[in-house]
Amino acid sequence: MAQSMPTTAELLGTRQRILVTGGAGFIGGAVVRRLLRESDAVVFNLDKMGYASDLTSIEEVIKELGVEHQQRHQLQAIDLCDADAVEKAVQQANPDLVMHLAAESHVDRSISGPGVFIESNVTGTYNLLQAVRSHFEQLTPERREQFRLHHISTDEVFGSLGREGRFSETTPYDPRSPYSASKAASDHLVQAWHHTFGLPVVLTNCSNNYGPWQFPEKLIPVVALKAAAGDSIPLYGDGLNIRDWLYVEDHVDALLLAACRGTSGRSYCVGGHGEKTNQEVVNAICHQFDQERPESAPHAKLIQRVTDRPGHDRRYAIDPSRISTELGWQPRHNVEEGLAETVAWYLSHQDWCQTVRKQAGYDGGRLGINQAKTN
Ligand code: NAD
Repeated sequence: MAQSMPTTAELLGTRQRILVTGGAGFIGGAVVRRLLRESDAVVFNLDKMGYASDLTSIEEVIKELGVEHQQRHQLQAIDLCDADAVEKAVQQANPDLVMHLAAESHVDRSISGPGVFIESNVTGTYNLLQAVRSHFEQLTPERREQFRLHHISTDEVFGSLGREGRFSETTPYDPRSPYSASKAASDHLVQAWHHTFGLPVVLTNCSNNYGPWQFPEKLIPVVALKAAAGDSIPLYGDGLNIRDWLYVEDHVDALLLAACRGTSGRSYCVGGHGEKTNQEVVNAICHQFDQERPESAPHAKLIQRVTDRPGHDRRYAIDPSRISTELGWQPRHNVEEGLAETVAWYLSHQDWCQTVRKQAGYDGGRLGINQAKTN
């Protein structure tokens, strides 16, 4: 972060009890690690501990910090679909700030089985909102003043762009996949609880994240692991779909700023000017392998065009002017350097990748081409 940016402890101020939902996942884990490392706050991590969850990275941080910090991370292994359990968990956490990241997050899985996306992302958000609303109503006026529910969402709610233009906070919603439709519904619920019940909320809609500790089913870890193994690298359709890639730690900067300094009822689009076609991302990873392993070059020979994802959005791009001008956010990583570091990380953590895939019963194969009604 630029030097003039506030520290995590400065941002939190008197907020010392933070409830993070989905803190055992990729982005939530990065938020939890940041809070543990850079503040004294107690973090309540509400997560159903599903297939994409893993606590290794958080355990490493606690080990680094020392046993006296162990109590600062409280796992609440709860499914948001269980309204009573959510109510109790929120009461127990008694939070000053809620950062809601828990969601089913993989578009391809939402095509194979949409039901769990509606349950977790829509009903789960509803249950959380009801529990947080009753918590908020019991707070003292001083704590109410500081309190926020921060809902973390995606740019995919805005649909698909043509060659020109970028998404901003005023772009109409136009979700196209079961995943993005369920996230759009959750955004609307959060805004409704603000307008109807006076709950202080902030929303962020971010573009595609990449970085370490992501469950290895999404583009960048999948390509890195396939290239490392010499397996064929799947490229969906013509490979020209564009995503606006953002390094996960830059997203965490934006989340903490929005959660602590964002205006109640306002949403902020987050993106790092990192537009790349999928083909460009895959080529860059292959090029990195060519340099590190010249004996098996060119790795691009492993690329294999596969049937496109049904309803595959063509282009996403974000105009982050609001969060930059109002809250002073700027990304710290450019996509080329961040991608190279990320690929190197997956190469040095192949054991972790194998372990979490095995625990999840996922073999690294293609998801989301079965359009039959499975759920
Ligand atoms: P992830 O799949 O890695 O982690 C999500 C976590 O939420 C998992 O640990 C999972 O167990 C938990 N969860 C899911 N359903 C739950 C339920 N019903 N009850 C309790 N816990 C539940 O996802 P991620 O990539 O870390 O994404 C986090 C959030 O950020 C999501 O809301 C996602 O929509 C949003 N987002 C992600 C990206 C991205 O590129 N990954 C971009 C923009 C926004």
